Amino acid sequence: MPRIGVYICHCGENIAGAVNIEEVRKYSEALPGVAVARDYLFMCSDPGQELIKQDIKDGLVDRVVVAACTPRTHEPIFRKATEDGGLNKYLLEMANIRDQDSWPHWHDKEGATAKAKKLVASAVAKAALLEPLEDRFVDVTRASLVIGGGVAGMFAALDLANMGYKVYLVEKSPSIGGNMAKLDKTFPTNDCSACILTPVMVQVGTHPNIELMTYSEVESVEGSIGNFKVKVRKKQTYVDWDKCTGCGDCVEACPAKVPNEFNEGMDKRKAIYIQFPQAVPKRAVLDIEHCINCAKRTIGTEPRIHSKTGEPILAPCEKVCKTGACDRTVAYNPEGEVVELDVGTIIVATGYKVMDKTPFKEYSPQSPNVITAMQLERILSATGPTEGELKRPSDGEKPKTIAFISCVGSRDKRYHTYCSKVCCMYMLKEARLIKEKYPNINVYIFFIDVRSPGKDFEEYYDYCRNLGVKIIRGRVGAVDELEGDRLRVRAYDVDLGLPVELEADMVVLATAIEPAPGLEELGRKLGITLGAEGFMKELHTKLYPVETSVRGIYIAGCAQGPKDIPESVSQARAASSAAAVPLTLGKVVVEPLISEVDREKCSGCGICVPLCPYSALSMVEYKEKPRAKIEEALCAGCGVCAAACPSGAITLHGFTSAQIHAQIEALTVGIGGGA
Ligand code: FAD
Ligand code: SF4
Ligand code: SF4
Repeated sequence: MPRIGVYICHCGENIAGAVNIEEVRKYSEALPGVAVARDYLFMCSDPGQELIKQDIKDGLVDRVVVAACTPRTHEPIFRKATEDGGLNKYLLEMANIRDQDSWPHWHDKEGATAKAKKLVASAVAKAALLEPLEDRFVDVTRASLVIGGGVAGMFAALDLANMGYKVYLVEKSPSIGGNMAKLDKTFPTNDCSACILTPVMVQVGTHPNIELMTYSEVESVEGSIGNFKVKVRKKQTYVDWDKCTGCGDCVEACPAKVPNEFNEGMDKRKAIYIQFPQAVPKRAVLDIEHCINCAKRTIGTEPRIHSKTGEPILAPCEKVCKTGACDRTVAYNPEGEVVELDVGTIIVATGYKVMDKTPFKEYSPQSPNVITAMQLERILSATGPTEGELKRPSDGEKPKTIAFISCVGSRDKRYHTYCSKVCCMYMLKEARLIKEKYPNINVYIFFIDVRSPGKDFEEYYDYCRNLGVKIIRGRVGAVDELEGDRLRVRAYDVDLGLPVELEADMVVLATAIEPAPGLEELGRKLGITLGAEGFMKELHTKLYPVETSVRGIYIAGCAQGPKDIPESVSQARAASSAAAVPLTLGKVVVEPLISEVDREKCSGCGICVPLCPYSALSMVEYKEKPRAKIEEALCAGCGVCAAACPSGAITLHGFTSAQIHAQIEALTVGIGGGA
């Protein structure tokens, strides 16, 4: 008969405020197998842990049940106390009577107390069947994968590379740089974005420990911490990057024009293009969808021969290319190439996209003079469609009045309830840049309220007001198109308590920051949970802000939620430190909760093999019949195989069928008459 010790925590008032602790203690004491039941104000404190250790040392208990808060944060503490007392640390079970009981049932003390009893009974039922287990260690591949080459991904990659680890940086665009590469100047210091970003991009591009894989995307991820196997699909560029010097002659020669994504669709790029002037790597990419096949020649075919000269008839792009990098005989290959990588840890830094203006019919999105704030960034930038000159898109005239509208799609129940966090500040920045260059332009900003809580942000706000930027508090109801490409903004001024109207030449919408396209699918490939708003979810908001639900996978920058550059960089550097820990250790402890196959019971049906997400199962010959075999090093203890096996031949140690059934029975029927 086991001797179980039950330790009930008050968690200050967190649990004791809603649960009658003494009633639960008395109930626990009477459960079969329970030798002692104690309670304490904070069981995780030193004196609380001492109670557990002392009872074990005194030989009073040989199994431990702690009824307290979440095992996610506190299980390691109680495992350590159990071990320090002299027991195997896996002879511990926790009942979460805070997150799963006192908090959700705060106003129902009777109900919460009854539920606490059930949760304790269920933990006791399982504890009686616990077996000692041993930790497993796996070797860690000393390399890391960073997904996304924006400012966050670049800093994460650089930090790891500078620590001496091999880093694969996978970026889906032809160049690294992300959204920051599109910005003109950056708040709160107004330094030129390209000036501070380009040196970082060059460092990343030339670092001996970083393997840059641009124009590439993650295809699949298998394995677990220490040993992830990643397949990366490198898209076909149709230009030989080993030969391309980035001279841009092909771009000049190409006649096919396509809306330029980098300039937010406000001008055209060519079918063969270099993403932007400071691109790293600076290489041309042929957009095969928009190539018009000059010289009547599709990709992958030999050139026709000129009947008179006997010379091959080349397309303009390949004719001007001095290095032979642009060669249209290269095979058509929409699938690209798949490369396999072995890494120990992964950082996701896939950033964001800005919401499109189209859904906001009330703001006349069809007008070319209604633009997004990111489009204005490109207009203000020297490398943008107007080379930095502020011009109205409809006719190229300099605007006299500009109105900004905040929270377009953010803090709005129709779209996103969250605050996009950076819009207040970048609107002030864009307004300031305009006022500093063109003091006679009238600039109005319509805010719900101004959010400027960062370092030096309030001073930045004051400075903008003093420049003459007019700030109106109130939601904009509509933007109407008027004669002569003008616009009328209709709003309610909360401070005046009156409706107001304003005629403007341009309206700038601060559209919401949204998760990068395809993030949901990437989350599925990685096994990471996404939050309700679609960004990657951190393991714990306060304590584990860069960890995810999957050990060994970390998040940084706007992949986790909207944030500015300083915050993105800080988080990236935190993520790189966290990701470096397993690489530095070279070995990591993995849960001993591995599955085991009873080959005598296995019928050889093979159902389990394709189900294992970690490819840990295979069929081998045993007594001249095929039987399932588990590769221990690959098994992550998820239990999918044990649940699926029709013969009951697979046991998941730590979660055996007997243990789970005992728990369920205690919850539904009760043990020792204590339902
Ligand atoms: P991103 O810059 O979005 O980079 C993510 C990268 O990941 C991109 O290169 C993307 O192509 C890549 N990627 C996405 N999905 C995948 C995938 N599946 N596989 C591979 N690669 C992928 N902040 C400031 O501090 N100051 C400012 O002045 C400022 N101005 C702003 C103005 C505007 C209009 C906006 C919208 C934002 C502004 N910001 C500003 C915020 C700033 O842009 C962000 O903080 C910063 O860019 C976040 O960097 P990131 O690396 O997290 O994301
Ligand atoms: Fe590269 Fe040739 Fe184009 Fe120059 S002309 S950018 S070398 S492909
Ligand atoms: Fe441009 Fe070359 Fe295509 Fe002609 S063949 S459209 S020049 S990329």
